[in-house]
Amino acid sequence: MSYDFDLFVIGAGSGGIATARRAAEYGAKVGIAEFSSLGGTCVNRGCIPKKLMVYASHFPDMFEEAQGYGWSPVASTLNWQTMIGAVHKELERLNGVYQRMLDNSKVELLRGYAKFLDPHTLEIVDSADSSTPARKVTADKILIAVGGHPVMPDIPGIEHASTSDDMFLLPEQPKRLVILGGGYIGVEFACIMKGLGSEVTQIIRKEKILRGFDEDIQTLVQEAMQQHGIRILDSSYPTAIEKTSEGLKVTLAGKYQETVMADVLLAALGRQPNLQNLGLENAGVEIDKKAITVDEYSRTSQPNIFAVGDCTDRINLTPVAINEGRAFADTEFGGKSRIMSYENVPSAVFSTPEAATVGLTEAEAREKYGDALKIYRARFKPLYHTLTGRDERTMVKLVVDQTTDRVLGAHMVGPYAAEIIQGMAIALKMGAKKADFDATVGIHPSTAEEFVTLR
Ligand code: NDP
Repeated sequence: MSYDFDLFVIGAGSGGIATARRAAEYGAKVGIAEFSSLGGTCVNRGCIPKKLMVYASHFPDMFEEAQGYGWSPVASTLNWQTMIGAVHKELERLNGVYQRMLDNSKVELLRGYAKFLDPHTLEIVDSADSSTPARKVTADKILIAVGGHPVMPDIPGIEHASTSDDMFLLPEQPKRLVILGGGYIGVEFACIMKGLGSEVTQIIRKEKILRGFDEDIQTLVQEAMQQHGIRILDSSYPTAIEKTSEGLKVTLAGKYQETVMADVLLAALGRQPNLQNLGLENAGVEIDKKAITVDEYSRTSQPNIFAVGDCTDRINLTPVAINEGRAFADTEFGGKSRIMSYENVPSAVFSTPEAATVGLTEAEAREKYGDALKIYRARFKPLYHTLTGRDERTMVKLVVDQTTDRVLGAHMVGPYAAEIIQGMAIALKMGAKKADFDATVGIHPSTAEEFVTLR
């Protein structure tokens, strides 16, 4: 049977675009559907605008710290609209780059919302013009790469809360920001907005932020955030949100039984796959716990349909979605059977100070290796802060299996943690031993050298 496309991709985010281009490189005829801006969450409402705002948020601290080095005080104020405008201009540029990349790869972009009619047929409804009749396309293989969206739990008044998507579109800077949730998004926005000058209160239901991270990272980042003036109300949860003339009133239960007022309330309580109206039931694609079920080759319960990225809820990170998609394209169109490895996937939290991690946390390793574990850790004031007067600590930590000498985990809190841990991730991926770290000469003076001088 002949189809319109060898591969049709639903969703032009990081995973979808990377896969479409890789399959096209192998000579496949590829189409892709997208109803919104090219680049998905990462480019339009996630990693990229977030990181640009992280940079913006660091300037006030730098102006202050410069005085320790002899610079005169700087009087500078933020023009919120200028910052948001500059960020969006860059996003538009990136949308254009993605369009050109698809054009150059000869991937056909169909603007609209795709829905399965059967395992090989999709209906694409033009999102801009609903009077245009839906277009039907057929494909031999179909890849679902539709991403996810923020979860909004059932709290009375939750409709008044904003999501991370909204944070990039706020017309003005909130004076008082209240954040629900202590995960990546809650922590990053708390630090960004505090750095930009908002008053920030973060409400977390457990004692510590960043569940799943090494405990030293949780503790150090939380302490540093509090030192920066972020009010963290732990072991508490919201029971009601009310719109009043003075702002949003958030009523809490738990350890802090109080009300907090907000100009903007950010709900950062996790994300879930975008599976609404996809017609998965028409294609026999099964889901489990609200995510598409896939095997190690990203194949769904329907043999010609595959899924990658956040809609499968494995590790929800851009580079993981890209890697999953390329492994699929290599296998199905490149004749190179490949599966994505989920071992030693590094990640970072762009908090202030930054945190980054690769491999097992101390608690995970303890469970697996028991007493065979040795922990190497250094906590110190980085050289930069010896003159700034700031009492901010950096931490580097290695988790090592003494029996084999293998380094199981590397964790860091401090400036450039993401840049440093990326290099460590290569070492861990290669199976580096503590002796390999010891045999490596440090770069002096640097923070990274601490990783090779730990005793
Ligand atoms: P996370 O899953 O990281 O964190 C969710 C937070 O919300 C946790 O603190 C959780 O608490 C809390 N929570 C969940 N449900 C409730 C509830 N009903 N009441 C109170 N608290 C609740 O989600 P995020 O939204 O922060 O981020 C989503 C994903 O986006 C991340 O998992 C990550 O994959 C990705 N991301 C990655 C980034 C990066 O790589 N730098 C940056 C931003 C996002 P508890 O811990 O107690 O469960």
